[in-house]
Amino acid sequence: MLTGIHFLLSYKCDLECEHCFVYSSPRARGTFTLKQMKEVLSELPKIETIEWVYFEGGEPFLFYPLMYEGIRIAGGMGFKTGIVTNAYWAESEEDAELWLKPLRDLGVSDISISDDAFHYEDNDTSLAKHALNATRKLGMLCGSIGIDKPTVEGGIDKEQDKGKPVIGGGVMFRGRAVEKLIEGLPRRPWEEFTECPYEDLKNPERVHLDAYGNIHLCQGLSMGNMWDAPLSKIVKQYNADSHPICGPLVDGGPARLVKEYNVQHEDEYVDACHMCYLVRLALLDRFPKYLAPRLVYGL
Ligand code: SF4
Repeated sequence: MLTGIHFLLSYKCDLECEHCFVYSSPRARGTFTLKQMKEVLSELPKIETIEWVYFEGGEPFLFYPLMYEGIRIAGGMGFKTGIVTNAYWAESEEDAELWLKPLRDLGVSDISISDDAFHYEDNDTSLAKHALNATRKLGMLCGSIGIDKPTVEGGIDKEQDKGKPVIGGGVMFRGRAVEKLIEGLPRRPWEEFTECPYEDLKNPERVHLDAYGNIHLCQGLSMGNMWDAPLSKIVKQYNADSHPICGPLVDGGPARLVKEYNVQHEDEYVDACHMCYLVRLALLDRFPKYLAPRLVYGL
């Protein structure tokens, strides 16, 4: 049951993190217009199950007036609202309060702040800390997101992984992380990746929407394009089994996807997402409606 809609308000970000799975950067484009955002919001009640509307990116605070207006409208429609930000704007606690207070007054339910070595080298004095302290002072519900550089741990992850190295750190090997962070990590045979470990592609609980109309089930894996047909209609008609990419992934993970389309592939991958991302990249021109936008694949 789809309960969460996440606006990728823009792909533009002030940072260019190595682990970013949507290839955001200061040069990235793809920003919602107010008209587009309102069009999407007007579709949400028709889906009937939506509870949450999130604003993220890229960096949504780069488009503060648009984000503010989106939160105002969504809140007025009765949805709970949230934001994900890197807190680039929090020069001090006092300044952070200036940015946050209007959002608190709008009734934002949740704010998640990136606070890790990818975003800030010195965590003790980071902008994120200023923002976190300011949210607490303002009585806002807030959490931090911390992702570390990949590490190889000798531990045991799951029963079937017994004795195999576990990659720690929480990086998802999609997007720029595949280009920047894969080198030197241990790999496993491709046949082992027979399921999608993170997304419930059959019954998704949340999707991410971008200004190009893509309805992301996972980054770069789209349910369809909401500028071609109404969002509510696409969501209601979605059936993973008849989706050309999700069908095989649900059936047998990335390993099934390569067999389905006879994709040339490597012998070993770091994890299922690493394999899935590269196989999807190879299928991009064949399924442009479902594997989009190209910028999420670094193109
Ligand atoms: S990259 Fe593929 S395997 Fe990983 S979560 Fe996304 S859909 Fe699932």
